[in-house]
Amino acid sequence: MRPYYIAVLMLLLSACNSTNKEETEEFRTLFETSEGRETPEYEDVMAYYMKLARTFPDINLQTMEDTDSGHPLHIVTYNPGGSFNFNRIREDKRIVMIMNGIHPGESDGIDATMMLLRDYATGKIPTPEKTVIVAIPVYNIGGALQRNQHSRANQNGPETYGFRGNARNYDLNRDFIKSDTKNATAFAELFHLVKPDVFIDTHVSNGADYQYTLTHLFTQHNKLGGELGNYLNKEMMPRLEEKLAEKEWYITPYVNVFNQVPETGFSQFMDFPRYSTGYTTLWNTLGMMVETHMLKPYKQRVEGTYELLKDMVEITEKDHDRIRELRTKNFESFAKAHDYPIQWAVDSTEVSTLQFRGYEADTIISEVTGFPRLKYDRSRPFTKPVSYYNFFKPVKSVTVPEAYIIPRQWEHVIDLLRANEVMLQEVEKDTVLDVEVYHIADYQTRNTAFEGHYLHYNTSVRTTKAQKQFRKGDYMIRTDQPAIRYLLETLEPEASDSFFNWNFFDAILQQKEHFSPYVFEDVAAEILRKDPALKQEFESEKARDTVFAQHWYAQLNWIYEHSVYYEEAHLQYPVYRIVK
Ligand SMILES: [Zn+2]
Repeated sequence: MRPYYIAVLMLLLSACNSTNKEETEEFRTLFETSEGRETPEYEDVMAYYMKLARTFPDINLQTMEDTDSGHPLHIVTYNPGGSFNFNRIREDKRIVMIMNGIHPGESDGIDATMMLLRDYATGKIPTPEKTVIVAIPVYNIGGALQRNQHSRANQNGPETYGFRGNARNYDLNRDFIKSDTKNATAFAELFHLVKPDVFIDTHVSNGADYQYTLTHLFTQHNKLGGELGNYLNKEMMPRLEEKLAEKEWYITPYVNVFNQVPETGFSQFMDFPRYSTGYTTLWNTLGMMVETHMLKPYKQRVEGTYELLKDMVEITEKDHDRIRELRTKNFESFAKAHDYPIQWAVDSTEVSTLQFRGYEADTIISEVTGFPRLKYDRSRPFTKPVSYYNFFKPVKSVTVPEAYIIPRQWEHVIDLLRANEVMLQEVEKDTVLDVEVYHIADYQTRNTAFEGHYLHYNTSVRTTKAQKQFRKGDYMIRTDQPAIRYLLETLEPEASDSFFNWNFFDAILQQKEHFSPYVFEDVAAEILRKDPALKQEFESEKARDTVFAQHWYAQLNWIYEHSVYYEEAHLQYPVYRIVK
């Protein structure tokens, strides 16, 4: 190259650099000007993004639906080239979605993302060519507006921050299926608009003390399933660990222990569909949470989060074709699946070993309670092999039906299916169909309130076949559609986060009509006389169950429940299955 050209090039480069510097200077965040001690208030976060979007054509700020706070949700999109039509973007680019401030007290991602998008826009860091970034500046706006200095008791900064509960005191990271909040339905809308390939939800962890600032909590790879799950566990996760280690940002899987030392071993946290990444997995999105360690200084936590986000974009950029191919395959294989796993347990036969960087801990006598307590000693760091159980196996599966049928009166369920882009077909005229019917055979209920519900668990069903009358306007929902996993996880009562377990169908749990024993005595005698097989069954039940044998009401009730007088609706699950 001739000297003249070199000089011009140098001039151009230095001009570029100085523009970057000026722009970076103009867009300094509160986190930076406070030297890593402060995080901005909600209004200031939004004002910052508005200014970025006004200045840089590659950045767009879009208003979505309202949240419980009355303020609408927003997304900020960075796409060099400036197209913000997601259908078009998807054709040749992958999309990384970053969710911040679901727990506004854990503000690390809010600050990291403000700097990251600015640095992309100003060209301070290399522009991704095949990756678009969509960020939710603050998801829990109501919580962010409740600024305080104390609700994160164990956390080392920032100075003031928002609160975990939303405007109606819901924890939004339990609300993705039951959707009690407007935030959850607004999220469903934007998630299905954007359809991200990679999803990152930013948090700060509680729990043990150790050397790491960063921990990762990827969606459980066996549950994600197929080659996509393998890719997540064997390629994406190790690659992120290596990239961060090269910069001396060591990261470990989320330390899933409570008041115990990590070196005894721990299992992966199971992200059921109620959680952000459990929900995004239902559409085969590569999901992860980053959990920074609460005891590390705020500045360090935000810087670590920034590096992690940048590395995840780079990994997506490099693997963009693979990611598209593997996600498509997962959608295809679930759409033709015969069985679907609905309950999981740790597979203790497969163990991973972590070289864990921890601190020695002692058990000493508590000054407060006089009982033994745990105390970590940071002057005694160690690196030790630790067993990590991150393989899970299905312990219960269901046969995938060809379709579900939901009578039109279950409007709340229908609305949620619609919000999640489930394709529904209206039954065109009154019709009798052969269906499988579930009867709730058993369930237990939590005796404390959990996120606005008294959750059911250990639910089991009994299946019968029947011919059922359906009416014009009822809904038929075929399972061979992209939302298949969402349908199975919500409509199969035995799945852990089913709509049944979240109390959507509690009305069927109560019997509406009963009998008067003195009248029913004679009817019951007649029933048994006319039905020798039933009488035989009744006698065997008495022989088998001594409590039953001593309980006159239970015996009359047994006959009532086996007679035509017993109401059909009691314990009968009102979503029906058409089987293949
Ligand atoms: Zn959190």
